[in-house]
Amino acid sequence: MAYQAEYIWIDGTEPTPLLRSKTKILADDVTTPPNWGFDGSSTNQASGDKSDCALIPVFTCPDPIRGGDNILVLCEVTSATTGKPHATNTRAACAKAAKKYASDEMIFGIEQEYTMLRPDGRPLGFPVGGGFPEPQGPYYCGVGTGRVIGREIIEEHTQACLDAGLMIEGTNAEVMPGQWEFQIGAADALTVGDHMHVARWLLHRIAEDYDVVITLAAKPQKGDWNGAGAHTNFSTKAMREDKDMKAITAACNAIGKKVMEHVTNYGHDIESRLTGKHETAPWNKFSYGVSDRGASIRIPFQVEKSGRGYAEDRRPNANMDPYTVCRLLLETVCG
Ligand code: ADP
Ligand code: MN
Ligand code: MN
Ligand code: MN
Repeated sequence: MAYQAEYIWIDGTEPTPLLRSKTKILADDVTTPPNWGFDGSSTNQASGDKSDCALIPVFTCPDPIRGGDNILVLCEVTSATTGKPHATNTRAACAKAAKKYASDEMIFGIEQEYTMLRPDGRPLGFPVGGGFPEPQGPYYCGVGTGRVIGREIIEEHTQACLDAGLMIEGTNAEVMPGQWEFQIGAADALTVGDHMHVARWLLHRIAEDYDVVITLAAKPQKGDWNGAGAHTNFSTKAMREDKDMKAITAACNAIGKKVMEHVTNYGHDIESRLTGKHETAPWNKFSYGVSDRGASIRIPFQVEKSGRGYAEDRRPNANMDPYTVCRLLLETVCG
């Protein structure tokens, strides 16, 4: 029987790109989704007179929403005329860096935080019509009415990620009401980026059914409320195998020499989130430390104890581009 392939790509919206998708019906004898195209003038990716952009499938998985033989197809965007990566295609540059530094065997695990909003733009769990919930404290990893909200969405999303075969590792309720996290990894840069984009698409798609808006905004609620980040945990083979912290310290020092290059590419509105409060370090001041959730980079306690393992770059925003963040870490740590 013919089946449905949902082609997913990243658009050209600024300052933070959006996900787009459309459906192609494939005949039952088609086993590999073909290249396709779209109108780039409607996605901020082309002008009306040269509107054609190409979709090149790069990652395919079962479609857990439609079920059956249906699939999801994540694509890179290229120019329809030259075949070169489109300016919005950050995956191509990430692929280059991953290939160049392949011998370092760098892997990543990303903690994706996000916030659920009502259609009126207020976080889910904030009183309808105005006012605020109780201050932060009981919500992180909470249980019970008034402490957690939106659990049915994360339950459905987690199962969907598993059914799609994504490398989802876990979930938790976050510090601000209506804020949640899931983790993807640990895997090479392209795998973690591909799985993250499909997981984000599934989240937006599932939340539609609940009339809930998912935002990856870095600071969706001003004031004494935590922002939303995407802590990026990373390790090279040397960091995992050393016994004296040398490789981990060297990685942190290398990153400390390129603070602005990283921070300016870690997602829109990072200054609002990395203030030095709410478990963050100031965006323009680099630091690293063991167990320190107020540092730019945290080295987990057990990593220092054994002298090897991984480090956590706590600076990337929830709205970061995983291909760009992983590329920068590859270039800075392995370069
Ligand atoms: P926390 O909330 O305490 O910061 P999480 O449990 O949410 O930690 O996330 C830990 C992340 O660390 C996961 O995404 C996991 O894949 C990643 N991770 C663990 N070991 C490694 C490693 N050796 N290299 C890279 N990432 C790793
Ligand atoms: Mn976490
Ligand atoms: Mn978190
Ligand atoms: Mn973390």
